[in-house]
Amino acid sequence: MTSALRREYLAAMGLESWVVRQPSGAGAPPIMAATASVAQALRPATGFEVAADAVAKPGALHREAGFDWAQLRERVAACTRCGLSATRTQTVFGVGNLQAQWLIVGEAPGADEDRAGEPFVGRAGQLLNAMLRAIGLPREQVYIANTLKCRPPQNRDPQPNETAECFPFLERQIELLKPKIMLVVGRIAAHNLLRTEVSLSRLRQQVHLFGASRIPLVVTYHPAYLLRTPSDKRKAWEDLKFAREVSARG
Ligand code: SF4
Repeated sequence: MTSALRREYLAAMGLESWVVRQPSGAGAPPIMAATASVAQALRPATGFEVAADAVAKPGALHREAGFDWAQLRERVAACTRCGLSATRTQTVFGVGNLQAQWLIVGEAPGADEDRAGEPFVGRAGQLLNAMLRAIGLPREQVYIANTLKCRPPQNRDPQPNETAECFPFLERQIELLKPKIMLVVGRIAAHNLLRTEVSLSRLRQQVHLFGASRIPLVVTYHPAYLLRTPSDKRKAWEDLKFAREVSARG
């Protein structure tokens, strides 16, 4: 990507004056073995640190195991496993490149997504696209999904039973995609994937490992939050660069 083009995307993020660093080379801190204590894992990170105790441990065999992409999509479209099926316009399965190395995971569809049947459309989606392009990733090169496939009414937080019922769909998407890295946007998605209630600010800037495949997982702010709190866009940009470095070293 040319520097002029990157400046354009950074401007779209509201970060006109930022200088892009290249990914660290051989001198960058290595990813540490996953042996840290909770206290160690949650201390302010200075490099590539693995938050070992936040490793998610989903069941080895879950409800959706074995289904292929087409079958899974059909099962989501027909799902009535929780009350959100009664209020949705349509399910929002996920979208993107099935060979993608990056999986972006958000919380749940909003009003725009519920109407379109696609995650991250509307203003938050446009900001996500700009964030991805700023690190050289067109939307077409990633896969995007949510932890919940139906919109909660009035965009309220998902309830535990809704999350529990829906999570196997995302688990199967992850198994099928086999991403090289997961970028999780927002507190609720991070909490669901990492099975923690640690604040997002303390989950950022660390490499978490997801599931038995120990997929590197990086947490950052949700684009909708960044639209409401533009002063945190700088932190999001640091997270994106961090994720890119993690991916480059994988
Ligand atoms: S949110 Fe998930 S579990 Fe609930 S009805 Fe929609 S697809 Fe099914």
